[in-house]
Formats: sequence, C-alpha cells, structure tokens
Amino acid sequence: MSPTERWKAVMARDRRFDGAFVYAVRSTGIYCRPSCASRRPRRTQVTFFPIPEAAEREGFRACRRCHPADANGTDPGVTLVREACRAIAAGQTPPGDPRRLARVFKRILGITPRAYGQAQRVAHFKQELKRRKQVSPALYEAGYSSTSRVYERTHEELGMTPATYARGGAGVEIVFVTLSTPLGRLLVAATARGVCRVMLGDSAAKLEADLRGEFDAAHVREDQSGKLEGYVEAILSYLDGTEPHLDLPLDIRATAFQRRVWQELRQIPFGETRTYAEVAKAIGQPQATRAVARACATNPTALVIPCHRVVRGDGELGGYRWGAERKKALLEKERDVE
Ligand SMILES: [Zn+2]
Repeated sequence: MSPTERWKAVMARDRRFDGAFVYAVRSTGIYCRPSCASRRPRRTQVTFFPIPEAAEREGFRACRRCHPADANGTDPGVTLVREACRAIAAGQTPPGDPRRLARVFKRILGITPRAYGQAQRVAHFKQELKRRKQVSPALYEAGYSSTSRVYERTHEELGMTPATYARGGAGVEIVFVTLSTPLGRLLVAATARGVCRVMLGDSAAKLEADLRGEFDAAHVREDQSGKLEGYVEAILSYLDGTEPHLDLPLDIRATAFQRRVWQELRQIPFGETRTYAEVAKAIGQPQATRAVARACATNPTALVIPCHRVVRGDGELGGYRWGAERKKALLEKERDVE
C-alpha cells in the first residue's frame, strides 16, 4: 500500500484496514488504527507503520480510544512478525524458522530481523537521550556547580560525546556505507560510539577516499553486516520527510568552540533557519560571526548537525561544505514538509 492509499483509508476511517497498518501523529506522540474516531491529524504530522511494534519502537504510545495493538488483520505474517518484534525488544531470539521469519520480516517491515534489532537499539538510545534531557535541570540542582562539569553533561545529553580517538583515528574501528540519495551519494561512517562522518558528494569512490584520508591511522572498512542500518534508515527517513528529527549519537572531534556551535545548530528546529550572527549571539559570542561560519564549514556530520539551516544575514543562503545546490535543495525540502 502506498502512503497515499493509507492516508485515504485514514481519512475515510475505513475499518477494513485495521490491522493492516497504523498511523502515528508526531504532535501528540500517539498512534492509532485507521478507523479511530479521533480527530484527523494534519497529513504532515503523520507517519505510517506496518505494525504497532514498529510505531512503539519509535517512541509512539498506543491510543487509548482505538487500542491499535489489538487489531491483527488478516495477514498471518503480521502475527508472526509482531511476535518476533516483541521477542527482539525483550532481548530474546524470535521463535520459529529463522529463514522463513527473515522472508516475512522483509516483506512486512522491509528490513531483516537483525537490522530491526539494530534499529531498535538506536531508537532505545534516542529515547534514553530524551529522558536524560528532561532530567538535566535536576542534575544541575544536584550539585554540578562547576560550569565545565555541567558543560560535559550537556555534551553527553546531546549524544555528542567527545571523540575517543586521536587525530587520524589511531587504533579505532570505523565502518562505513555509501548509498544513493536524492542529494547524490551519501557516506555514513561510525565508530562503536556513534556517527563520526556524514558526507555528501557525487562519487562514492571519492567520498571513501576522503574518509580514508581523514582517518589514515584507523581501521576503516565497508560495513557488510548491516551494522549501520539503524543510522542509515534514520537519515533516509529524514531525507524523505517522514521523520524530521535526526537525533543520532555522534563521536566527533571538536574544539570547544566548534562543539558549542554544533550544539547550537542541533537546536535549530526542522524547517527553520538562523543567520550566522544569530548563532554567534546564541552562544554568547556575538562578535564571532566569521568563526561560526568556519565551524559550519567544518561540520563533519552533514544533516545530523544541520549546518544547512544557517544562512547569511542578507538573505543569501551562504556556503555549504557539501555544495550550495544541496543546501538549497535541503531547505526547500524542509519548507515543503512542514
Ligand atoms: Zn485512536
């Protein structure tokens, strides 16, 4: 079923599709079956999921009015996959024949059980980050009085841990994948702790060479085992507008100044822009506009740190490390989705 067909079923509150998919509403954090009697949300707020477990994995809660998790539909594969998802979430091996399960999983969720487990861990991590953000005032009161200590905390809460590796990445394992996107070739690379590079370009070979050049002392290898699928999936959902919040853990090297700027960029909401001067002001260094522009230009993780949302004060878009055309396309895309 295409998203348009699903949306039609939701608009019609069509009971025949209960159990065939659920829809989740970002503004409320709740997911429903198609026939739910609640008020219809705005289309831009809606994400569809083939099964309730997939919506819950993204942090959505079941609607108390329509009990979407009770609808099973007519597809026996759905029951099988739902059971498997619950087993994976509980840290158990799903029951039954693994090859059959892999086939049905792929058909219904579009990914393998293994990739689902990985994405599940990423989702769990994101929820953990959100939870920690909520408790941070309490941490503050609990005696993190030294500003540097508080500052370190904030890094952690944003998933931006100080990189654990030295320049060149000596002794570090880095895996990467490249893929085609509407913006050209995309390379995603990560250490065990988080994403360390997101790069855009015209050629996968060139991106790979740049990565290897930057991490000339690391063990860099292409990911064959689907380790990065959770990250990749999150980036693709951001790019196609289904999930605007790209909140991935990062493992990047930065000066204290770069870190402050990048932190600030991650606070700019989807669909909005700031000027370089506004960012400089926000970090308490209003005179540092040019240094802010330089920090944007050296952002190692495109999209995840949304440096494309920073523009010049005179209405021009300003530069973009990955090409001005891509910046323009990204900003237009975000405007259309909102
Ligand atoms: Zn409902």
